[in-house]
Amino acid sequence: MENSNPLFQYLDPMEFSKHFFSKICLSDKFFYPGECKDPDLLYPPFLNKINSVKTEYNKYDYDHTVFIYESFRSNELQRIYFNRNSSKIRRYGMHFYGIAADLVHLDDKDNDGIQDNGEFVSWDKLNYPLLQELATSAELIHLAWEACHFQLIPVSLQQNIRNFVTAQVVSFQQDNNLVPDGDVGPKTIAKLRSMYG
Ligand SMILES: [Zn+2]
Repeated sequence: MENSNPLFQYLDPMEFSKHFFSKICLSDKFFYPGECKDPDLLYPPFLNKINSVKTEYNKYDYDHTVFIYESFRSNELQRIYFNRNSSKIRRYGMHFYGIAADLVHLDDKDNDGIQDNGEFVSWDKLNYPLLQELATSAELIHLAWEACHFQLIPVSLQQNIRNFVTAQVVSFQQDNNLVPDGDVGPKTIAKLRSMYG
């Protein structure tokens, strides 16, 4: 049954669930209403693709450093963007699942790949057509309406991942005598922590 879900052409359901439950849900950024740049919150096969695109890009444009401006995004921050009209999505965007990243240029003076004090990002310095071409070769999806955004799955499957994760959460909650509302709240996190933490 599960194999018929087109989502699983893009991600391994077991590996993805484990990352979501053990890394994302247990991160101290899970409810954080600010931008997260932590690469390790990204689903590892997705991060590998992003890293290979970054490396390829610098073969053509070695003056500019590709930097992950946002990796994971909490529903709290998504709601702020929605209310500000910066996003049409109110909650459960692809960043929430660790399968989207926004790529910008970082003026990385010391070349350590980290944004330090006095190092600034820009949204207009990368060659986005080139970046998008490399992303397509790496089987990543880019959006016509948001040049810096790259994700693992097509827009047509976004509802599939929401449904898949909600079903996983409900089943975890049922197995652990929690209210099966499909939302990861403090009680679900406490139970997850006792298993993975
Ligand atoms: Zn994005």
